Amino acid sequence: MPTYCIFTVVMSSVRNPVTPESLVRPEILALHAYHVQPSPGMIKLDAMENPYILPESVRAELAAVVSSASINRYPDASAATLKDSIRKTGNLPSDIDILLGNGSDEIIQLLAMALAKPGATLMSVEPSFVMYKMIAAFTGMQYVGVPLAEDFSLDMPAMLASIRTHQPALIFLAYPNNPTGNLFVAADIEAILQVSNGLVVVDEAYYAFADNSFLPRLGEFDNLLVMRTFSKLGMAGLRLGFLAGPRNWLEQMEKLRLPYNVGVLPQRVAEVLLQHHDVLLQQAAQIKADRTWLYERLVGTVDVHAYPSNANFILFRLSHAGKVFEGLKQRGVLIKKLDGSHPALADCLRVTVGSPEENERFIKALQESIHQNI
Ligand code: PMP
Repeated sequence: MPTYCIFTVVMSSVRNPVTPESLVRPEILALHAYHVQPSPGMIKLDAMENPYILPESVRAELAAVVSSASINRYPDASAATLKDSIRKTGNLPSDIDILLGNGSDEIIQLLAMALAKPGATLMSVEPSFVMYKMIAAFTGMQYVGVPLAEDFSLDMPAMLASIRTHQPALIFLAYPNNPTGNLFVAADIEAILQVSNGLVVVDEAYYAFADNSFLPRLGEFDNLLVMRTFSKLGMAGLRLGFLAGPRNWLEQMEKLRLPYNVGVLPQRVAEVLLQHHDVLLQQAAQIKADRTWLYERLVGTVDVHAYPSNANFILFRLSHAGKVFEGLKQRGVLIKKLDGSHPALADCLRVTVGSPEENERFIKALQESIHQNI
């Protein structure tokens, strides 16, 4: 072929630039990535972490387990030993199955992937955990967020009407709810389970700090699953969550779980930590006592309206929330600014319960920042 001919062929097949805009789904282009604030050197009260490290003896046990772990091998894909400890710790009956996730975030995604038939709806309430809505977008599900009542309880007439209209395949209810901290009325959740033709997942991320749980109710409803995470119990760095429910549901979800989603080290470390569940629960009890201290200080602070909490954080509302948040940052304390994230959270901030010293530093910095902005 003469040279000019090859040139013509190449020229005629020159393509348009390949850009994310030309290929990525529009609903993903429209998303903002989940933002984590940098926090080096700060008192970190923004992410519902447990402020306590483990006792020296438990850390020594962990070191031994890690040093002998076979990280040259793939993990046990069925994580049988860990699942067994979770089953024992949670007193789960034998007809209730467990699925493990790389954090409960992964389980939310897996549930959505399984139920994302064309046009299927994922429903939650608002304000609640933002990943429900984000994951609906990731998986191509329609999202419906039913506004909570003004006191952040479930608005049952709205909820029931919305379920009737949208027939959601999947409903997430965070129990206690993040970021509001309250437990919904259990009878309301039962009513939702009864009318819903879809799956209802009670997300108990904050179970260790709460007065009630749906875990013992598993098996009572054919559409109830309960999800928990170890993140708030002192294992946020491990990335471990689980879903519990009737075998027929869990069998289907297992098909979507990537075979080695929980590594050798998280499995072995969590097994040891669950043998010391009492230590973790003691830390949770301390956090609950400190939550009372923190709540009372917030309630006693001029211009602050604090919401009662069943979790390891407290939501509060005050004037000039944005400026007060910045004032706290300048004083070395990082909490979560919710103002601007949802209309029901105007002028709201959320603080995680830290150690007693951290809580005191936070209250002092808060009072100074409020004073500065009056
Ligand atoms: N559910 C709720 C209600 C949460 O607040 C969070 C974390 N903020 C999660 C699930 C996810 O937790 P993880 O992925 O750490 O298990």
